[in-house]
Amino acid sequence: MPIRILSEALASRIAAGEVIERPASVVKELVENALDAGSTRIDVELRHGGIRSIRVVDNGRGIPAGELVVAFERFATSKIGESSDLLGIETLGFRGEALPSIASVAHVEAVTRPHTEDQGERHELEFGKALRLEAAGAPPGTSVLVTELFRNVPARLKFLGSPGAELGRIHQIVATYALAYPGVAFRLMSDGKAKLATPGGGDLSGTMAAVYNRRIADAMLALPEDEDAAFAVSGQTSDTTASRGNRNYITLVVNGRPVQSRRLTFAVEQAYHGFLAERRFPIAVLYLTVPYHDVDVNAHPAKSEVRFLREDILFAQVQRVVRAALLQKSPVPTISTGRVGRPAQGTAFPATEQRSPLGANPLWPEARLAPQAHADLAVAAADVSASATDPADAALTTEDRPTPRSTLPVLRVIGQARETYILAEGPDGVYLIDQHAAHERVLYEEIRARIRNRTPEAQSLLAPETVELPPEHAETVWQQQEALIATGFVFEPFGEDAVLLRAVPSTFARAGTGAPGEALLWILDDITEGSRADAWDERLLHSLACHGAVRAGRSMTIEESRELVRRLEQTEQPHTCPHGRPTMIHLSEGALAREFKRT
Ligand code: ADP
Ligand code: MG
Repeated sequence: MPIRILSEALASRIAAGEVIERPASVVKELVENALDAGSTRIDVELRHGGIRSIRVVDNGRGIPAGELVVAFERFATSKIGESSDLLGIETLGFRGEALPSIASVAHVEAVTRPHTEDQGERHELEFGKALRLEAAGAPPGTSVLVTELFRNVPARLKFLGSPGAELGRIHQIVATYALAYPGVAFRLMSDGKAKLATPGGGDLSGTMAAVYNRRIADAMLALPEDEDAAFAVSGQTSDTTASRGNRNYITLVVNGRPVQSRRLTFAVEQAYHGFLAERRFPIAVLYLTVPYHDVDVNAHPAKSEVRFLREDILFAQVQRVVRAALLQKSPVPTISTGRVGRPAQGTAFPATEQRSPLGANPLWPEARLAPQAHADLAVAAADVSASATDPADAALTTEDRPTPRSTLPVLRVIGQARETYILAEGPDGVYLIDQHAAHERVLYEEIRARIRNRTPEAQSLLAPETVELPPEHAETVWQQQEALIATGFVFEPFGEDAVLLRAVPSTFARAGTGAPGEALLWILDDITEGSRADAWDERLLHSLACHGAVRAGRSMTIEESRELVRRLEQTEQPHTCPHGRPTMIHLSEGALAREFKRT
């Protein structure tokens, strides 16, 4: 279809246009245009995080001679016709607004040549005015160079982040489109350095490896086909060995468009129920093919939140197919007791650290106390003085402590139920203790005391591990270096976007939470999560405690259970986990008697 200008009537029915508010918006629009033009290779080159210049080069079908000037008019598009009902839109763009919007706030030079023509055209514009149009030699395809972005809108210039931050946003966008289009080879260059290069040719695994890393790519499971389903869903989803601390690694692509959908993201998350630890999220790329008339992409100005006509059916289907992939490949969520590291990579922790899920912490020796002695200790704990809030006191070992603080009654551990709860009895009834929540409370207070006392307990790695930092963490790790070191991480710069990790907090070494480098990434994921209002160091503490704590679903010996209860008694607030959820439920004598109608 030739490029033509939509009538006022049709244009006004299209959801209000998108604003070019930062370099990333420019990249998004230009990449979408390149994809709509059927390109198989798209290069994005930036200078200074895109603030100084952005160039997007594609090998798509180009713009026919004589149409280049029109393409920069408002509401000029080749993608929908005047008869369009705005439903069933198959292209990424359709409003004819991107090029004029960009040209109104920047200097733009566009060069294009269709494969069918021998010569191309170059068009130059600045802040909404056409400067010159000329014939030009050019390879087939289109290249758009954007410089001096926002020079005429100083207010918007002021709100731009650092080049690093803008680069991070652009990286995110290019990565998302690369995942959505594994058939296209993407390359992102920043100040002459390659930041991302995907293989193209439909190689999703290679694309995953390029966007994330090889380890994640290898942990992906293909979604099984579901022939009876109403919609076609394909893609890959992570097995239980790989996970992330936020939902950003769930990519949804509906009819070729990367979209946000809280409900569908939740459907993926739900499928992992019982497979992943609390607040861990899977990595997934899902391609959904939905009849065009079933989805409204015009609902949102950024075209990123979509509406589905039959959302409940889609939700159920996504959940089912992801769950099926998981069940096929990993029938049981196996977390082997105390196993840490990945021996194959030569980064395992020493074998002595692999004994129990609670570990052989020198400060908290494994239960040596007989049950009776344990009870005595708790009885002696009547005095709940403020002594434990004194950091010096908090660092004392149990043995050193004359009167351990406790607000728990004497508890006798009976056993473990459902590999999740510790069953205990006290002077007034029965207690069910959530092993994960209890351990979280214990670690939280222990780590806090260590940070206060500057006595981090680190576990050195046998071999240092190189940890590639995703762009969103490349700055954080240095900004928060001191706090991370205070908890036991030891690392140093390694190249541009990586660190060499030499030690991790011992809680991680004992928790068996996977490769040590993953531990660092988990923490960074958690603490940079935008929605949480807590202070940075508080989030760090929460994160360390949560990831170090024994999981539900892990069987514990009676000694381990006793040890955990004993350590819980030492805490200042044994009744809640650091997030405020209860660590235990109490069935009182009276309640039991009532239930059994013994009164
Ligand atoms: P839209 O994408 O909504 O149609 P744009 O302003 O982004 O609006 O682009 C206007 C028109 O210019 C497109 O409809 C398309 O015909 C043409 N165009 C823009 N970029 C490219 C490109 N990279 N390759 C081929 N054609 C392009
Ligand atoms: Mg467009």
